[in-house]
Amino acid sequence: MQEGINRLRQQSIANASLFIDGAWREAESGGRMDVISPIDGRIITTIADADRSDVDLAVAAARNAFKKGSWSKAAPAERRKVLLKLADLVESHALELAVLGVRDNGTEISMALKAEPASCAQTFRYYAEAIDKLYGEIAPTAPGILGLVHREPVGVVAAIVPWNFPMMIAAWKIAPALAAGNSVVLKPAEGASLTLLKLAELASRAGLPDGVLNVVTGRGAIAGEALGLSMDVDVLAFTGSGPVGRRLLEYSARSNLKRVYLELGGKSPNIVFADAPDLAKAAQVSMNGIFRNSGQVCVAGSRLLVEKSIHADFCAQLVALATDMRVGDPLDLRTQAGAVSSEAQLAKNLSHVESALAEGARLRGGGKRILQETGGFYMQPTVLEATPGMGIAREEVFGPVLTVIPFESEGEALQIANGTDYGLASAVWTGNLSRAHRMIRGLKAGVVHVNTYGGTDITVPLGGVKQSGNGHDKSLHAFEKYLDLKTAWIDLT
Ligand code: NAD
Repeated sequence: MQEGINRLRQQSIANASLFIDGAWREAESGGRMDVISPIDGRIITTIADADRSDVDLAVAAARNAFKKGSWSKAAPAERRKVLLKLADLVESHALELAVLGVRDNGTEISMALKAEPASCAQTFRYYAEAIDKLYGEIAPTAPGILGLVHREPVGVVAAIVPWNFPMMIAAWKIAPALAAGNSVVLKPAEGASLTLLKLAELASRAGLPDGVLNVVTGRGAIAGEALGLSMDVDVLAFTGSGPVGRRLLEYSARSNLKRVYLELGGKSPNIVFADAPDLAKAAQVSMNGIFRNSGQVCVAGSRLLVEKSIHADFCAQLVALATDMRVGDPLDLRTQAGAVSSEAQLAKNLSHVESALAEGARLRGGGKRILQETGGFYMQPTVLEATPGMGIAREEVFGPVLTVIPFESEGEALQIANGTDYGLASAVWTGNLSRAHRMIRGLKAGVVHVNTYGGTDITVPLGGVKQSGNGHDKSLHAFEKYLDLKTAWIDLT
């Protein structure tokens, strides 16, 4: 496989256009943005820089397609056929898509292969298979009345996604939205658009009618804002940072009150008790749980809480593993952590470390940029010992930075774990079944892992509580975001 990857990394990448109404178009302004590869800091291609007029065009194409009905009114089994074909096409282009994505965002290829095309194809297949198995309801009303509950597609769905796992996260939104019969306008992140443009091409080849899936690339503050303020978008599904999530809620209030679903960040606690069944495994899995993809994972276990009696040994083990981690060329299959997505993100990560040290945190390992001869943006896996009140123990870094905090009792662990504004993921390592269940009940988080970290599947929902968001991606629950309920009240007398 490495040979194939090496061949693909040499290929030139054509300048990309917008995908609107089944055709490639330039932005009306003619604007373009450079795509800088985090692998070496070089420009690899350009993408179109959409503005409001392009977004309006894409939304109009989506609305027209919805009204036309060739997708929205197609039999669910027909939609299933097209989406299954798309899943097959994604799979047959998996290596090409994975390498293209890595050149764009720097994720190590071993992870990109699993998390990007493979998981994208699986997601399309899951929702394709589900859509002709959803039934309406008959309400238990009085006998003289027939109360029917229909499910209808909402209309036009906008999806705004981040750069860390573009195909996987976009599929979590657009697969259920499309399966349900909606039209979609997708806005990729500035730093990860290329694979999603390719996805639109494959969708068209699979038989998705023109206008049903549109992709507008460009800047969040311009193209993203235009989608947020559009009067003709019915639902906006977002994954990204809290500050942008807040803006989207404002845009909705200032425009048509579109429903906004937010999947935001986290500062997820990973809690290791002294009675964990296998501390060596806990250290290894915890290390992967924060440092894979250079920590750019929304559910990363970025706060490690360790029971005081094992704190010193456990930290030493973890720092040794982190120091040995193979960080570097993302297109080498042996690499365990690739590049940080951009120079700006790298600078942000380093400034978090600097502020933590200024606040009194203790650096146990890493903390520096890794300079490669080939250029690019790399950072050492970093371990900091901190106290719960410090900024580094509360704010999301979204980089390879782990904060370690000791605790003395179960109650204290829970108090620290729940002591941030976030509530996305969490984990508990213990051999005590009752304690595991108490912790599952006590932790304010969308997911609680027990004696593992980061395992997931399309069959289970992913979503946050508190300021980590609302709504859920994945599982059959995701349909709830993209289907309206309509009641028919029929007098039978
Ligand atoms: P970001 O919020 O900066 O950008 C996300 C998307 O929003 C991009 O497409 C961007 O162009 C767009 N955007 C930016 N400004 C906008 C605006 N004013 N109006 C409309 N759209 C705008 O986030 P990011 O840096 O791409 O991703 C990192 C963040 O995403 C982290 O906080 C991370 O935790 C979060 N994330 C969450 C999940 C989850 O499932 N909860 C998954 C992955 C990432």
